[in-house]
Amino acid sequence: MNFVLHGSPVSAGITIGYAHLVSSARLEVAHFEIPAASIDAEIERFDAALELVRGELRELTGHIPVDAPAEFGAFVDMHRMILDDSTLSEVPRALIRAEQCNAEWALVRQMEGLVGQFDAIEDPYLRERKADVQQVVERVLKALLGHPGPTPPQTSDEQKLIVVAHDLSPADMILFKQHEFGGFVTDLGGVTSHTAILARSLGIPAIVGLHLARHMIRENDLLIVDGLQGVLIVAPDPAVLGEYQLRQSQLELDRQKLRRLRTTPATTLDGTPIELYANIELPQDVEAAREAGAQGIGLFRTEFLFMNRRVMPSEDEQFEAYRAVVAAMRGLPVTIRTLDIGADKALDGASGDAGPNPALGLRAIRYCLAEPQIFITQLRAILRASQFGRVRLLIPMLAHAHEIEQLLALLRQAKASLAEAHLPYDRGIEIGGMVEVPAAALALPMFMRRLNFLSIGTNDLIQYTLAIDRTDDAVAHLYDPLHPAVLHLVAHTIQTANRAGMSVAVCGEMAGDLAFTRLLLGFGLRNFSMHPAQLLAVKERILRSSLGELAPLAARVLRSPDSAKTRGMIAKLNS
Ligand code: PEP
Ligand code: MG
Repeated sequence: MNFVLHGSPVSAGITIGYAHLVSSARLEVAHFEIPAASIDAEIERFDAALELVRGELRELTGHIPVDAPAEFGAFVDMHRMILDDSTLSEVPRALIRAEQCNAEWALVRQMEGLVGQFDAIEDPYLRERKADVQQVVERVLKALLGHPGPTPPQTSDEQKLIVVAHDLSPADMILFKQHEFGGFVTDLGGVTSHTAILARSLGIPAIVGLHLARHMIRENDLLIVDGLQGVLIVAPDPAVLGEYQLRQSQLELDRQKLRRLRTTPATTLDGTPIELYANIELPQDVEAAREAGAQGIGLFRTEFLFMNRRVMPSEDEQFEAYRAVVAAMRGLPVTIRTLDIGADKALDGASGDAGPNPALGLRAIRYCLAEPQIFITQLRAILRASQFGRVRLLIPMLAHAHEIEQLLALLRQAKASLAEAHLPYDRGIEIGGMVEVPAAALALPMFMRRLNFLSIGTNDLIQYTLAIDRTDDAVAHLYDPLHPAVLHLVAHTIQTANRAGMSVAVCGEMAGDLAFTRLLLGFGLRNFSMHPAQLLAVKERILRSSLGELAPLAARVLRSPDSAKTRGMIAKLNS
């Protein structure tokens, strides 16, 4: 059956490929009675699913990426052990027989009993193994439901797979980064959730907030993902398919033309140079940043080094990762942001102990100050990497002067310990603060007095100004970068920093969105940091912009009373 779904567009481009359903299977388990004559067959079905998952895990062991965290192998081994433990492999079989119920139900009942026991364990390490049991059960459920696990089926080069999921965590996305997928579509999620940001960093089309896609699409359905418009076409007819194939080749042509701008300086028509930096999540992303001709890294989201693993990366492991990026950038600035976990970035992909309201909880710098050992380890690793190039240290989610004082004290401590051990670091390293909480934007002198540069994180600034959870598709329509309050905070931060001669960048998704390039230039922004995939398109827009015209128009936008009017003004600005 041919149908169309609408969601929120995440990343530019069109992809055509076959659906690969990735299930949050636990949500889908129904209970039904099995006739006595079919009990043996149901048990066989359960055994076959276990065998399939055994095979998947064996295969995973053989294909661990070379750059995967060291813990990854141990984690797969542990899952194999859990799978073979009689509590999961035998007890559900007995339950199917005793209760005459379907295998999925028996498995989930057994899992819930086990998970309850884990909750009662005092040892935090053992208590956390609960998530492993859940993940193994998920795999078996997927096998029972006839859905393959996250290891993608083999495809030929021209046959692309499109991941269709109810929801994906940023930790899931990091694992998906290892495979070649043509696109991603999810039922949940907002366009600036970290999952969406990662999809964008892969440079492939994606749509979030499709609501029922996961239920309506079947494995191997032919899909067209229009990541520009947020339109998903399922089982298109030949005329529609032909039209999209045409648009796809046009976009590819445009992309190729843009590549010619790689080494062209980003200068406005009236001769003002603009700095274009890249955002990265993993050290290997630096390649894409260099290919796009980035003049620096404006945001290295280091938390992704900490995901999908049991223990935190050691100081040496972190040092190697940071040094690799610094060396690859050959003297260009590398802005390393300290650990920003919490909210939608749980370390293991589960949101288990995140507190009642994770986005307002122990996130980012709050977490780091509560865990000084973890923070100092990271600070030492960053400092040690700073001797290999030009490192800038960036601190997320600051709101209070005492947070800055505390972090500076810990930084002094980290420096002193390195000096004592005769380990070199750049003594002139600059420290910057992210402006992503309205309180920070409204109390800038507090930050400017103590720090060397600012970077505006518009993703969180919008979330916290408008009280909209950036990951929640139910309120995604209220997430509005053009809300007058947001624009005032952004413009005020840029202009206050400019007046004081302090370097200021925007590193949230607004910086890579062509709709806002000219507006931000008009506000006075001279440093943009974005995903490498967006960089050349933004450069092209800059090359065709004249600051002389933009500044008065941007000032008029700031006087606009509501975002509907602003939208019209921005359209004119971009025409
Ligand atoms: C932001 O909030 O705009 C930002 C750049 O940080 P992150 O998206 O990682 O929260
Ligand atoms: Mg942020």
